[in-house]
Amino acid sequence: MNAFILPKMTWPEVKEALKTAEVALIPIGAQEQHGHLIAEGCDSYRAEAFSARLAEKCFPKVIVTPTINYGISPHHMDFPGTITLRPETLINLLEDIVSSLNKHGIKKFLFVNGHGGNNAPMAVAAENIARKYDVEIGHTLFVRAAKNTIKEEIHSEYFGHACEREVSECLYMVPEIVRKDRIEKADMYDSFTVKYAEDNYVTLVHQFNELTKNGNLGDPTKGSYELGEKIIEEALENISIFIDEFIASKRS
Ligand SMILES: [Zn+2]
Repeated sequence: MNAFILPKMTWPEVKEALKTAEVALIPIGAQEQHGHLIAEGCDSYRAEAFSARLAEKCFPKVIVTPTINYGISPHHMDFPGTITLRPETLINLLEDIVSSLNKHGIKKFLFVNGHGGNNAPMAVAAENIARKYDVEIGHTLFVRAAKNTIKEEIHSEYFGHACEREVSECLYMVPEIVRKDRIEKADMYDSFTVKYAEDNYVTLVHQFNELTKNGNLGDPTKGSYELGEKIIEEALENISIFIDEFIASKRS
């Protein structure tokens, strides 16, 4: 693969790469339950695989940092194996990564996030860091960049975790983490909608084991490699266009 992945490079190779690379991608994932059907590193594997593909598409303009394999997952702690960071840990970690790379001359960063629970602290980190250092920071829950495909192809009322969208992304990028014989619909409690619905005008702090018995949302049986390809390729196209604009933009 023709892509600058920092943990796979020597320092002279990095020195050479920094002659052309202007944006650092920082993949952020989670270690949390994803039902019976996807291994718990799902969001980390997806963020890492997506960032590597993005780096290949944008070669030689970006570098990729090591993946942050933990995220903000207190709402999954009732399932075995989930590990959560405190929000301030993620915020501090992002600052340390950005300030280190800034010392090496990188001034533009994109946080490539695979887990919705990271969104709020990631946004706080971007605000804090961009105003403290002489850097520009973008952040994305990368799958949102596939909004056309998601609107056209996904019809479950509630989805977004161990669902048809997420299992499809895995089948396309990291099939080895999917248990293909355990793909099943979400087994929801009747009361879940009040707590979960993203379009509610009030957001409630919730625990996933109050919403779903098996840990899934939506209908993962509707997932496929082909749907994953459509989602990921749309997101890659849109975010690569953003990266070109980000590089071309100059602060006034
Ligand atoms: Zn996930």
